[in-house]
Amino acid sequence: MNGSWLSLLFLLIVAWPAALPAQECACKELVIAIDVGHGLLDPGATSARGKPEFEFNLVMGAMIKDQLIRAGYLHTFAIVNPANLRERVKIAEEKLADLFISIHHDSVQPYFLKSWEFNGKSQKFSDMFRGYSVLVSTRNMQYTKSLEFAKLVGKNFLDAGFTPAYHHSRKVMGGRHTMLDEHLGVYQFDNLVVLKYAIMPAVLIEFGVIVHRDEELRLLETETREKMVRAVVEAVNAFNNLDCPVP
Ligand SMILES: [Zn+2]
Repeated sequence: MNGSWLSLLFLLIVAWPAALPAQECACKELVIAIDVGHGLLDPGATSARGKPEFEFNLVMGAMIKDQLIRAGYLHTFAIVNPANLRERVKIAEEKLADLFISIHHDSVQPYFLKSWEFNGKSQKFSDMFRGYSVLVSTRNMQYTKSLEFAKLVGKNFLDAGFTPAYHHSRKVMGGRHTMLDEHLGVYQFDNLVVLKYAIMPAVLIEFGVIVHRDEELRLLETETREKMVRAVVEAVNAFNNLDCPVP
């Protein structure tokens, strides 16, 4: 064997094992926008015990961002309290996001709300509906990919023991949305601004119904939050593998 063959063999041996983690790293180059729903001036829904939805979204958004970074997605960033909905999409676009995940917690149609007293204050609640929902817009430029990711999130939530909410379905009074996958809790919500205008795959996750008195308490538990965060991170991994050739 002459010198040039030897050096080629050496290069192959040295370069080949190095190529595997490099490819894995390239997959984790995915830029992920974590859009924390609502803000200081628009706090969203109010929970059965009077907590603003924005507080729930902030905690869940921070946990998801941290876990994604820990999982190797170093380009994950959060969008918190921007001027308006279009600004959220603009920030994601400017930062070249590959995936847009909007974090929300749910209420129900006003018709189902009742009053009760908590800590001496009258609050609204409904114990009729609980569960998560994952929303996509067919008007998103990358609808197919959005739906693919939404289904992965729904599947992981189911596997983790959570159940989908049905009150957005047209089958329920005041429900306005078509269920794209009833089993996985995936809904079509075409005109939701952030989903419609995002140029990258985009989903909105309602992690649970905070006007439901038991569900609110459960959603405040660290164990529940950690399970849901894990489900989302695993969905990102699965989504990523569909895009990246796995060596
Ligand atoms: Zn919301």
